[in-house]
Amino acid sequence: MSIAKRPRIALIAHDHKKDTMVRLAKEYVELLRQCTLSATGTTGGRLVDEVGLDVECMLSGPWGGDLQIGARLAQGEVDAVIFLRDPMTPQPHEPDINALVRACDVHDVPCATNLSTARLVLAQMARVADLDAA
Ligand code: PGA
Repeated sequence: MSIAKRPRIALIAHDHKKDTMVRLAKEYVELLRQCTLSATGTTGGRLVDEVGLDVECMLSGPWGGDLQIGARLAQGEVDAVIFLRDPMTPQPHEPDINALVRACDVHDVPCATNLSTARLVLAQMARVADLDAA
């Protein structure tokens, strides 16, 4: 994967996955501190408050946050997306979610949509960018 010297990672978690995202971020906090982070509004707020990360918060997902991240990604400004989706709950902004995942595929940007893949992506990013993983 092609990534910037300081990896730019976008983080998004649906409501039932936000606790998982916080735990994941704590697990990889050293790596994430060395990255440029953006997130949808509520997810980002929790990462700031509960993990102490420096995160640029976009709009909340249902209000267009996924689209904002997708637009940046299309401009080459995002190296990876950690997108912990809730497959069991219908989302009002499903078209936006699909647009973001599609943009990842169009631009060949890694997009982790579950915890196991997220761990693999973060560990690999740490290796490729020669950063501390945890
Ligand atoms: P949120 O958005 O972090 O603002 O809750 C996530 C989403 O539902 O896409």
